[in-house]
Amino acid sequence: MENLLNKVQEAGYDVTSLVGEESIEFWHNMQETVASTTEEQVLCLMICAEHQATFDYHKQSIDTLISALQLLKNADSPRADLMLSLRNSLSERYVATNQYDKALEEYITLTRLAIEFGDIDSYAIAILGMGKLCERFGDTSRAIRYYHKIDTVDHALSGRSLRLHYKLHKLSCYIRLNKRKLAQKILKECEELSILVSDKLLTGQMMLFQTRLYRQQGDINQALHVLATIPYAVGNFESSWFACMSRVEQAYCLLESNKPHVAIYLLTQAEKRAENAKLSSEVIISLYNAFSDIYQQQGLYSAALEYEKKSFTIESKMIQGIPIAELGANQLRRLSRFDLQLKLILSEMENRELKETTESQKHTVAQLQQDVFTDPLTQLHNRRWLDSCLKDLLIHEADFAFLIIDIDHFKSINDELSHLVGDKAIMNVSAQIRHLFAQSNHHCIRFGGEEFLVIIENVDLKQAEDEAENLRLNIAQFDWQPVLGDRQLTVSIGVTLHRLGENTQRTFHRADKALYRAKANGRNQVCSE
Ligand code: GH3
Ligand code: MG
Ligand code: MG
Repeated sequence: MENLLNKVQEAGYDVTSLVGEESIEFWHNMQETVASTTEEQVLCLMICAEHQATFDYHKQSIDTLISALQLLKNADSPRADLMLSLRNSLSERYVATNQYDKALEEYITLTRLAIEFGDIDSYAIAILGMGKLCERFGDTSRAIRYYHKIDTVDHALSGRSLRLHYKLHKLSCYIRLNKRKLAQKILKECEELSILVSDKLLTGQMMLFQTRLYRQQGDINQALHVLATIPYAVGNFESSWFACMSRVEQAYCLLESNKPHVAIYLLTQAEKRAENAKLSSEVIISLYNAFSDIYQQQGLYSAALEYEKKSFTIESKMIQGIPIAELGANQLRRLSRFDLQLKLILSEMENRELKETTESQKHTVAQLQQDVFTDPLTQLHNRRWLDSCLKDLLIHEADFAFLIIDIDHFKSINDELSHLVGDKAIMNVSAQIRHLFAQSNHHCIRFGGEEFLVIIENVDLKQAEDEAENLRLNIAQFDWQPVLGDRQLTVSIGVTLHRLGENTQRTFHRADKALYRAKANGRNQVCSE
């Protein structure tokens, strides 16, 4: 991708100056003029298709994606990630244009390819798509059977967003089936995840489910309380889906609080807005159902019936297009046949680290330059260095602890004081980490943007927690005035011990969970797992 962007720039074009729909034409031209390899041409078409979808030209977007797919198929050795990404986009477009049978075909191909290429994320995305189709059809139990298939690979998913996304769908199903205990359990997992996923729409969606769950339990005050806190949690963001669904939720709460007139007023507002926004059938159905429920409660049966009819018309049209028969037992059995291969992929992933270790022993390389392993901003070790350090620790069966350190509310420092100040804050935190953990059994890594990892060898959990707490205190008590003015800066830390014989992915996962808890409990604290 970077190569392509460089080429475009060298050809004298400025991508940043494109406005609105210009991008569509632009990337079409780039494919014909600037892109020289098949891969580059495919990338141009993929970008073009994304822009087409943004402006709701879904049919054109599908054509573009199909051309890209054709190009890629003709390539000598088609890149697996491009192939998966193309199929994934195609399935999304088919859903957007209500071509559910074609979407399902894509999902089926995607599962096969994902297994072939050992790509767990793509596998999960395809299964999620199939589950969503069942949900759309109204077969919630069947949807859950698909989501259960993702459970088996949950720990191996690489993105937190994807994990949150599928868990929210599970949550929605449990709420619909009135399985409150299961819903509560999954809601807790979603809450933990949402703290570390900066996706406002997913957070907003989660809070709407939370409201619905409270309402289901008859706790209207709590439901209203969650609704009132949504704007603080997600801020201002544009989503006609979210705007409509939060009004529906508010309307139900108002109905329960004996304010049906206000509820109807809200829904009428939502209906007016819906006329201009391109909302999915599901959202419109929810809106009409809410109208119908509220009118019915008031004894206004003819109005209720009218909305029920409207909702029924849209629903039956939507349902007709969903190939539910193909999503039945046969499909689930087909997926089960992948189980063995999946297990193999997962265990290969787990073993890869150890295998690579043996490989690297053979080569006895190691004379790599210092800067290859150093993060330029902080001078701490980088992730590349981490990989080799972990292999070393595993080979020597060393005991070690993981401390994942994450700066609290860092985004707001960037937003309020600029990115430059944000960088300075990162440098200061790094300096303190380096200073406090200077001994030879400590290894400090800049793990991501504002996340750090410290590995401490030969410590027990108590010692690791004490060291983490010491760092937390030092940072909280540091004089931030010269860097941040009136603002303070704190960190949250997740601590865990590596268990002998365990894959480090699992250790990470535990430390990450401890970090979730530290964040969820109010930040500026150390939690261990
Ligand atoms: P939380 O306490 O929940 O962790 O909130 P947060 O705002 O710290 O977390 P979030 O993940 O929402 O935001 C992290 C931000 O860090 C987003 C990104 O713009 C910023 N960031 C990532 N890398 C850098 C960097 O190198 N420099 C600067 N200035 N900002 C960075
Ligand atoms: Mg972070
Ligand atoms: Mg943070």
